[in-house]
Amino acid sequence: MPSLRADAQPGLTWLDESDSFRAEAIFRQHNGQVARKGTMGFSTDAIHISQEADPATGAIIVPIYQTSTYVQEELGKHKGYEYSRTSNPTRAALEQNLARLEGGQFGFAFASGMAAINAVLTLFKSGDHVVTGRNLYGGTFRLFERVLKNFRFEFTYVDTTRLADIEKAIRENTRLLFLETPTNPIMEITDVAAASDLAHRHGLLVAVDNTFMSPYLQRPLELGADIVIHSTTKYLNGHSDGVGGAVVMNDAAVADRLKFLQNAAGAVLGPMDSWLVLRGVKTLAVRMRQHCENGMAVAQFLARHPKVKLVHYPGLASHPQYELGKKQMRGPGGMLSLETGSLENARRVLNSVRLCSLAESLGGVETLISHPATMTHASVPPEERQRLGITDGLVRISVGIEDVEDLIADLDQALAKI
Ligand SMILES: *Cc1c(COP(=O)(O)O)cnc(C)c1O
Repeated sequence: MPSLRADAQPGLTWLDESDSFRAEAIFRQHNGQVARKGTMGFSTDAIHISQEADPATGAIIVPIYQTSTYVQEELGKHKGYEYSRTSNPTRAALEQNLARLEGGQFGFAFASGMAAINAVLTLFKSGDHVVTGRNLYGGTFRLFERVLKNFRFEFTYVDTTRLADIEKAIRENTRLLFLETPTNPIMEITDVAAASDLAHRHGLLVAVDNTFMSPYLQRPLELGADIVIHSTTKYLNGHSDGVGGAVVMNDAAVADRLKFLQNAAGAVLGPMDSWLVLRGVKTLAVRMRQHCENGMAVAQFLARHPKVKLVHYPGLASHPQYELGKKQMRGPGGMLSLETGSLENARRVLNSVRLCSLAESLGGVETLISHPATMTHASVPPEERQRLGITDGLVRISVGIEDVEDLIADLDQALAKI
C-alpha cells in the first residue's frame, strides 16, 4: 500500500488547514501576549478547560464525585452544590468543557443522546411545529413520531439540503428547525449557515445534531445555529464505553430554561460517565485527525474497487456536496457507506470481515461495520429507504483509528467474497 500522504487527494489538505489553530496559538505567544485558557487552541482547551488541579488534593484529573448530596456548612450556606441531579462537580467540568469546544457559553450533559434531544424538544409545547430532515437518526425519528406526537407536537420531514423545501414547510406555528448534517448513512450535507439564516428570518430556533462530526470538525454555533446536540456516546467519548448526551448554546434565556428542564426531568449524566467523556475529549483532536485520514484512505480504496458500485463520503470529490463540506467542515470525518449491489453481496462482506466488527453505533477507536437496511434503518418503510438511497446492498462503516493498511486488507478480503 503506498504511503497515505502520497495517496492523498485534495480532502486531506483540509487537515493541514486545521493546523492553523496551532499556528495561531504559537503566533500569539510570540507576539508577547499572555496565553489565557479559553483563547488557546482546540486541544489545549480540550485538555485544560475546567480541569484545574483538584483544590483538596492536587489531583491533576477531575475526580469522579460519586455523591448524591453535599453537606451544608450552615442553613442556606453551601459550596455551590446541593444535590447531584441539579449539579455535580464532575458533570459541571464536562459541561463547561464541551461548551467551550463548541464555541458556546452554556453546556448540559444528559444520560444519553436521546435524553439530550428530548430535553431540547421540551423547550417547546403542545401545538408547536418542527421542521426537520427526512433522514434523521432512527431514534430521533422514533421519539418525534411515537412519543412527542402524543403530546401534540407536529413534525414535517423535508430534504434539508434544499433550502426551498425547508421554507415551504414553515408554518404559523413552526418554532424549531432541527438539522442533522451529514446524514446517516448517505452523508448528505445541509448548509447550516444558509439554513440558519432562513430559519431566523422566520423567527425559528435552529438545533443541529453534531454527533457525526464532533466540534473538532464542525461547529454549528459558529455557523449560525442556536443549539448544538451530541450523542457523546460516539466521537466525544470515542472509546465505546459509555452512553451520554450533551447540549450547548449561547442564549442565556434558552440556557436558563434548559437548565430548569434538565433538573426538573432529571435525565442527567452520572459522574462516572461524565468522567469517561472528559477523558475522551482530551484526545478528540488527534482521534478526529486519524479518523479523517483513515476515512479518506478507506474511501479511496473502496472508490477504486471493482466490486464497489458507489461510495458516500464527503472527502471524495465525487460527493455531490464536496464543496459545501469543505466550506463548513474541517475534515470529512470517519463515517462512510458503500453500495455492494445487493443484500446477498452486503451479507457476504459483513459476514467475511475479521478485523472490522459487525455492530451498530459509531465514533469509537475501533472500526464498526453495519447494514443500515436491516439494522439502524429497519423501521424505515422499504419505499422510503429506496428514496433515501438506503438500499439493501448498502454497507456503513465507522472507520476507526487502527492501522489503515490492516483495515483495507480486511475489507479487500471481504469484498473478494462477492
Ligand atoms: C447515536 C445517535 C443519537 C442518539 O444517541 P444515544 O446516545 O444513543 O441516545 C442521536 N443522534 C445521532 C446522530 C446519533 O448517531
